[in-house]
Amino acid sequence: MSYVKEIYDNLQKKHPYETEFLEAAKRILDSLSPIVEANEDLYRKNALLERFVEPERIISFRVPWTDDNGVNHVNLGYRVQFNSAIGPYKGGLRFHPSVNQSILKFLGLEQILKNSLTGLPIGGGKGGSDFDPHGRSDAEVMRFCQSFMTELYKYIGKDVDVPAGDIGVGGREVAYLYGQYKRITNLYEGVLTGKGLSFGGSLARPEATGYGLVYITAEMVKAAGKDLAGKRVCVSGSGNVAQYAIQKLQQLGAKPVTCSDSNGYVYDPDGIKLDVLMDIKQVRRGRVKEYADQVPGAQYVDGKRPWGVACDIALPCATQNEINGADAKALLDNGCWCVAEGANMPSDSDAIDAYLAAKILFMPAKAANAGGVAVSALEMSQNSQRLSWTFDEVDGKLHDIMKNIYKNVADAAKRYGHEGNFVVGANIAGFEKVANAMIAQGLV
Ligand code: NDP
Repeated sequence: MSYVKEIYDNLQKKHPYETEFLEAAKRILDSLSPIVEANEDLYRKNALLERFVEPERIISFRVPWTDDNGVNHVNLGYRVQFNSAIGPYKGGLRFHPSVNQSILKFLGLEQILKNSLTGLPIGGGKGGSDFDPHGRSDAEVMRFCQSFMTELYKYIGKDVDVPAGDIGVGGREVAYLYGQYKRITNLYEGVLTGKGLSFGGSLARPEATGYGLVYITAEMVKAAGKDLAGKRVCVSGSGNVAQYAIQKLQQLGAKPVTCSDSNGYVYDPDGIKLDVLMDIKQVRRGRVKEYADQVPGAQYVDGKRPWGVACDIALPCATQNEINGADAKALLDNGCWCVAEGANMPSDSDAIDAYLAAKILFMPAKAANAGGVAVSALEMSQNSQRLSWTFDEVDGKLHDIMKNIYKNVADAAKRYGHEGNFVVGANIAGFEKVANAMIAQGLV
């Protein structure tokens, strides 16, 4: 039996109820087959895959807190410290009712490879709670965050584990968590990223994921002998990633023609007016529908995603599973020749199969949206140095990082006989560095 299959069968026996984790592990292990086969003896001797698929440690704890009416609640809190071979554990905290150990292990495993791809010294981790912040007052969210950190602080630190935000954990929550960590430990250190600018946050962090996505797309397009300038781009979403992707696309001369939210999408054949979109989203906290009311010639399509609009390039920047097999077919039928994922897991497996079969340029999320975590790691560097870099310094480093990610992903795909398949390339390029570090450090 192949080493990869052996490992996966064992995982299934050990964790039969962790469906999300098993699915992710299978996908990743399958795409690592070329490198595993080429190094099978070495990897087996070092029990490499056995170690790679098991977190170094999982911390789980109860989080008691009291709501504004004096009613007590108990949520579950977790931190999965998956892999520290190349740096302190790093990955977001998610507050959402769906959070469980299987989902956090799945996200943690992906995070190891994404963090490795950045080329920066960060290991993989993920954490969170099944707490639902929706409808909770500021005071309730603060008390929850304080209780969560009162347990978590024992296991994290600037050189140990550096969490960040994720779904349900934004600037407000990171700030409350940071305040409580500082109060308990009496340490002013970069233990969390995504902090406010006045207490250790980094310039260009809000822009990082969207800008990084466009930088790597530009590299991929250039390597294919084309130019981003003048190309029509379908963007989905209208949040943080989408807005800054649209901004960078326009700076590089491309023409983003759509954006969306969970109600529908807007098509502006003349190109999205970013000032109008940002005013609606950031100032008025409105819906994309209002864009079409304001901009002559723009069209709002209710209840649909933008994948039926003709484009050269698609940048899904909204949410998971927003492109299925039929959407992918519509994109391909309309002439789309490049997809890069700003959101996490926006394409389902049928969609990915369709891109690969059509041999279009496709950059998966773990490489395409790694700009966010890369700038988080730059925030850690600035905190350690007690310095704040300028916007241009951070943006310049981000640009170099994304160019390097493209190069490493493309090289790895080619070296292992899958030239142009960046799904295989991203997994192998991320894995290679972690595997070498794990082997060098011995059986730990
Ligand atoms: P935001 O919350 O700022 O924006 C999300 C956008 O997606 C909103 O426009 C939202 O619309 C839309 N959306 C949500 N659900 C759906 C749906 N079911 N159908 C269509 N549109 C939907 O999030 P971000 O921009 O920060 O994140 C977007 C994606 O990028 C996520 O997958 C995230 O995990 C990923 N990501 C983000 C990073 C970052 O640095 N921010 C880093 C790496 C990945 P609505 O207002 O209707 O909810």
